[in-house]
Amino acid sequence: KVRVRFAPSPTGYLHIGGLRTALYNYLYAKKMGGDFLLRIEDTDRTRYVEGAIENLIAALDWASVKNNEGVMVGENGVYEEGEYGPYIQSDRVKEGIYQKYIDILIEKGLAYYCFCSKERLDEVRNRQKADGLIPRYDGLCRSLSIEEAKKRIAAGEEYVVRLKLPTNEDIEFEDVVKGKITINTSDLDDQVLIKQDGFPTYHFAVVVDDHLMGITHIVRGDEWISSTPKHVFLYDAFGWERPKFVHLPTVLNKQRKKLSKRHDDVSAMDFKEQGYLPEALVNYLALVGWSPDDNEEIMSMDKLIEKFSFDRVSKNGGIFDRDKLNWVNQHYIRALDDEKLKELIKPYLVKDGVIDEDFSDEKLLLIASTFKESLDRLMDITEKTSFVFNGDFDLEEDAKEFIENSDIASLSNAFIEELKEIDEVDEEFSKGVMKKIQKKTGIKGKNLYMPTRAALTGMVHGPEFDKVLLLLGKEEIIKRLEKYI
Ligand code: GLU
Repeated sequence: KVRVRFAPSPTGYLHIGGLRTALYNYLYAKKMGGDFLLRIEDTDRTRYVEGAIENLIAALDWASVKNNEGVMVGENGVYEEGEYGPYIQSDRVKEGIYQKYIDILIEKGLAYYCFCSKERLDEVRNRQKADGLIPRYDGLCRSLSIEEAKKRIAAGEEYVVRLKLPTNEDIEFEDVVKGKITINTSDLDDQVLIKQDGFPTYHFAVVVDDHLMGITHIVRGDEWISSTPKHVFLYDAFGWERPKFVHLPTVLNKQRKKLSKRHDDVSAMDFKEQGYLPEALVNYLALVGWSPDDNEEIMSMDKLIEKFSFDRVSKNGGIFDRDKLNWVNQHYIRALDDEKLKELIKPYLVKDGVIDEDFSDEKLLLIASTFKESLDRLMDITEKTSFVFNGDFDLEEDAKEFIENSDIASLSNAFIEELKEIDEVDEEFSKGVMKKIQKKTGIKGKNLYMPTRAALTGMVHGPEFDKVLLLLGKEEIIKRLEKYI
């Protein structure tokens, strides 16, 4: 049975690249009828952020990329589900899981105690750097006998345990996406596996846990590919079956650079806040580094599951293109019914101080239907509707031109006369009024619509004109047109 996992470190928030990794894991598990686990890799306590586990899970939940095993969040906080727990690595430390496997490696002569102080390591590193070498542990403690090491431990010396890589040996593995990878052990460091306090490093914990949890496919970002030889060595050292490795291309921005906090939105929740629908973000993210063989672009989660395969994952960076994401999001917004969109835009308008919580539902529904076609993101609703709520707008250049080159006074007069005949603008009126003005003034076509629209909205383009009239209402239209008489 296929078992895959997403194994984030709780260092703050869910990165958009992390969400894509989780998504690919999820899609593959669903497709294969397998399990998708969430494991928390929190052995680096210096990077731990309070509340990060809850944040990660909230983001995955929002995106509907849900694990069926491992760490979950419920009403009473974080809990775990499944038979391979604990799923939080710091809890596994407490159970002595890693220590047990360290002992096995030491026994086999594939790991050794290292007593080198930080000062000595720094000195070695600096010397190597000065010589133009890649800094790496120089192996001083490799040849200590176990008896000697035990004595020094008993005497209270501080230590770590390091992997004892053979010298000058090729390590080879097959990556599902990148193909065959070979690296010589002389290019690798004797990795620290565990520290004295019993906390393993990522490299050791990840192998032990993936094995004990029965993981069949390791699907993760390709920043980990250079670590994989060490992992592979450990699988072999223990005599464990290697899982399949699937390294995903890094998510890059349009400049083909890694996404950076300073220049790009990197947190999945930033996208939620800006008003990307989760279905749209997931749909788009699936395409960052993968495409189906028919090149279809708009796909529901079920469709993605149906079509997903590792052999169409690209080898090189997936470009995160905001315009394309907006296009996908627009598609999903247009597919919403007005009632739903009404609920989704309300918080944005309230937050931006445009409307109150008790704003007319009916009018909000009209806003939803009027602006549905013009929204890339939900947050854009504030800017798009600004002419509705504020009549003191500056005219756009082309709007100004239309007004200057038209008989706006006659148009305004005629319009106001029509309005005086009625109590309030209704659908019938808004659909028919321009015809009447045309008759009254003899002005037609572009010269009729464009200047009127420009005077009322400040723009020559925009949502359907009869809806604009309904939204503004009698008094507001009169107020805006009176200026031109
Ligand atoms: N804890 C690692 C991370 O934060 C997981 C890497 C892996 O999937 O092996 O990305």
